[in-house]
Amino acid sequence: MSNKFFIETYGCQMNTAESSAVRKELINRNWEEAGEPDSADLIIINTCSVRATAEERIWGRLGFYKRMKKSRDFKLIVIGCMAERLKDDIKKKFPVVNEVISNFKKDDIANLADDDMSSISAVKDGIDETYHFFENHDRLTPSHSMIPIMNGCDNFCTYCIVPYVRGHEISRESSDIIKEINTLSEDGVSEITLLGQNVNSYKYDSYDFSDLIRLILSETDIKWLRFTSSNPQDFSDRLVQLIADEQRICSFIHLPVQHGSDNILKKMNRKYTSADYYKLIEKLRAVPRNISLSTDMMVGFPGETDDDFNKLCELIERVRYEEAFTYYYNPREGTKAWEFDNDVPHNLKIERLNKIIEMQQKITHQEKTKRLGTIVEAVVEGVSKKDSNEILARTEKNSMVVFPGKITSENDYVTIRLKELRGNTFIGEKVCLN
Ligand code: SF4
Repeated sequence: MSNKFFIETYGCQMNTAESSAVRKELINRNWEEAGEPDSADLIIINTCSVRATAEERIWGRLGFYKRMKKSRDFKLIVIGCMAERLKDDIKKKFPVVNEVISNFKKDDIANLADDDMSSISAVKDGIDETYHFFENHDRLTPSHSMIPIMNGCDNFCTYCIVPYVRGHEISRESSDIIKEINTLSEDGVSEITLLGQNVNSYKYDSYDFSDLIRLILSETDIKWLRFTSSNPQDFSDRLVQLIADEQRICSFIHLPVQHGSDNILKKMNRKYTSADYYKLIEKLRAVPRNISLSTDMMVGFPGETDDDFNKLCELIERVRYEEAFTYYYNPREGTKAWEFDNDVPHNLKIERLNKIIEMQQKITHQEKTKRLGTIVEAVVEGVSKKDSNEILARTEKNSMVVFPGKITSENDYVTIRLKELRGNTFIGEKVCLN
């Protein structure tokens, strides 16, 4: 009988990719994935340190596993960014944890081999060589895969812990990325999202991000190509031109701005001004492909005045993102901003956050409404959870659409007329173009 493992993952898509690599390698070595932790011989927690709330949740999970260890024996391993940041604290507070493996010492996983857990030695190789993961892990025939192409960050935004816990930027060799995409393509994957903390600063030998995209388009059959997260400072004119020329690059671009005030952008150590950002948006809007945009925005950074906040509101109105991930500043010990004075009171942070959420919801609705009546291509994802007589699909602009019908096969590309909106989901009807 094979040993069973259970992995729980917190945080970003990069963590999901690494968990996926560990999962795959363990399965290759005859480990079996447990459906729940209760039956696992090995439990791995892949942690996140980006927000205090993520860490609090993980401390809670460690308490849960400490109690579980009183009634049965299993091996508990903590990996990821919290393992990097708080290794000693974890060991001190939870001696029941067998190993804490920091991001910079993933090779240590290889040293975990012992008589009863010998297969763990293979995990390190898995992380180095296998990267992609499927967002819809439960689907039998996923059409979409995420592929990390670089890791780490050299930007040191003053609020962000990532450069300290993930280290300097390291890009993967382009030929390995192409090989991986072609393997996925042979298995039926037709859509790829390239991942990186700073994806468009990809650099390997003489290849930059635009070169890599050109190579992927010429050497693979991938139908839809996406990438995230882009840094505005690294978004080159060549990349804009590629988006204009290549229909296989999806017309939905995530471009985190963080703030609309130059004063705050400077304190955040973002290396662009609001004018630079507006200029980039103009270039993307000039692309004759009706580009849609999403972003990340933070309110309540230390010293944020009413005037700064109004500039952020102005930016939201001006750019008209289709989607935005909004949050308030959460100080992280170890970052530069941790030392900053002029904290914005918590209730004011919440008030400002609520205001931008409300603004963005209206804009999201208005922008999606503009698409009603259009005919779009979408990939079938499965049966709608709300109605088994409806099919759920995702459009090229990454919007969900449901339409009447019975599913014959996942991964089919269908042509849909967008008829109405139910919340942020489109209701559509299938059209035949012949
Ligand atoms: S670009 Fe800034 S926010 Fe993004 S990972 Fe790097 S330091 Fe963090």
